Parts: sequence; structure tokens; C-alpha cells
Amino acid sequence: MENWIKAGKIAAECLNYGCEMAKPGARLLDIAEKIEAKIKESGAKPAFPVNLSLNELAAHYTPSSNDETILKAEDLLKIDVGVHVEGYIGDCARTVGDDIELIKASEACLNAAIPLCTPGRKLKEIGKAIAEAAKEHNLITIRNLSGHGITQFDLHCGLSIPNFDNGDETALKEGAIIAIEPFVTRGNAARVSEGKPSGIYGLIRAKPVRDINARKMLGFIANEYSSLPFASRWLEKEFPKVKFYIQLLLKESILHSYPQLYESSRGKVSQAEHTILVKEKPVILTKI
Ligand code: MN
Ligand code: MN
Repeated sequence: MENWIKAGKIAAECLNYGCEMAKPGARLLDIAEKIEAKIKESGAKPAFPVNLSLNELAAHYTPSSNDETILKAEDLLKIDVGVHVEGYIGDCARTVGDDIELIKASEACLNAAIPLCTPGRKLKEIGKAIAEAAKEHNLITIRNLSGHGITQFDLHCGLSIPNFDNGDETALKEGAIIAIEPFVTRGNAARVSEGKPSGIYGLIRAKPVRDINARKMLGFIANEYSSLPFASRWLEKEFPKVKFYIQLLLKESILHSYPQLYESSRGKVSQAEHTILVKEKPVILTKI
């Protein structure tokens, strides 16, 4: 529990830090690298690459090492930060930009869900409360993105916490750790589609590879990140020809590539997320 609390607090602090940096003119790569550096300075590790998804991109965008994207005044930016301490993960996100109404709506959805994170609560009830909060703002939630259970070294385990009433009768258990993350959109698809590769990868399972360089890189990945997502840019200082060897490991089904996720009608998306401990009085772990 001590590690969960520590990871949550550091995640919240680093998310705040990122939000302060996210002003028009800022470079996305700088924001991501500074947040990730602060996580390490705080005595923790990133649980996944900082996600900086713009506008219609809902999730799974992290700047590559040659990404020159500059934040514009009209951009809507989701900052999603994951931190782990010994594999215990805090996952939180916030949206910044000038579409205040859309940002407020995702926060209202999250705030409607948090008090419901109590033992015995059915998942469909949480989804229903989230969708209703969006509706009060005349907006809709994205249905094929959801919150998730978290266990040590496993960012998405077991439970899937819906952002609408999906009829799921599964009940929350006391002591479970879950991430609640409503996505609200001005689009009309209520769905995301898979786009280009994000530069974010995850280890499926390590197995022997012939190539010595690929083998070295795989050993490093298994050791440093375990099954948690990582960015190709994290490997570039240590290893030559990272892109080539990643392709090789993808072909062998050793790695998995996360595609960018965009709202299917290209509407803007906002997100708000906290990691919560399920209790009679739910505890927000990702707070300062
Ligand atoms: Mn997240
Ligand atoms: Mn999450």
C-alpha cells in the first residue's frame, strides 16, 4: 500500500507539472521528457511513456525523438501520466486547452464516478453515472475506451470500467485498485479507431532470438520495463538501429505495438483520470 500511495502522489505531482508546462508554443517532446525526468528524480519510474494526445486523438500518442510538434492555442491536449514504484502503478490524466466546456465535462464524469467506487458496486452503474454526467453537458462519452483494474506490473488487468451503461453486472471488490477514465467528445461516433503506430510498445513474451543486437535489446526491455509499455525513444540512447530491431521483434510476436486512437468522426476528445482504491469511502490515490 505504501508503494501504491507513493506512486499515486508522484503521478499527480508530475501531471500537475506537465499541465503547467503545456502552454501555446511549448514543444510536446520537451513536455514528455521533462515529465519523465521528474518521475525519475522523484524516485519512481514511468509506468508507460507520457501520452500527449492532441484534439481528435484520444490516447496513445507520445512524441518521437524527432517530433517537432508545437502546442497551438486552439489545441486540446490530454496529458496522461503513469508512474510505478516496484510495479505499483498510479495512472492519471487531465486535459488542457481552450475548450473549457469539453474539459469540464470529462472532469464532471470522473467526479460522478469516484463516489461510486465502493465494494459491491456494479460496473454498469459507474458507466451509467459517467454517461449521464456527459449528457448534462450535451456531450457523449467514447464507448470503446474504458477504465481498468490495476495490479502490480499490470496496467490493464481483469476489470474493464465502462464509460456508459454496458449492462455489466460485475461488482467491485473491497481493496481493488482501479483507474476511472472517461473520454468525452464533440464527435458523433462515440468510438475510437486505430490509426498510425504510436511509438509505444509492450512485451508480449520474451523468447530466444538469433540476432545478437535484438537479443540484447530484448533483455534490456524485459529487465527495465517488464510487461509495462515503453517508447522506442527510450531505447535510442542505448541501442543502435532501434526501429529496425523493434520491427524484428514485432514480426516474431515478441512485442506488441500500440496504435494511435482517434475519435472515429474526428471530433475533439477530452479525458480525465484518477487511480482509485475501492473502499466504503473510496480513496483517490493519484492526488498530491
Ligand atoms: Mn492513463
Ligand atoms: Mn488508464
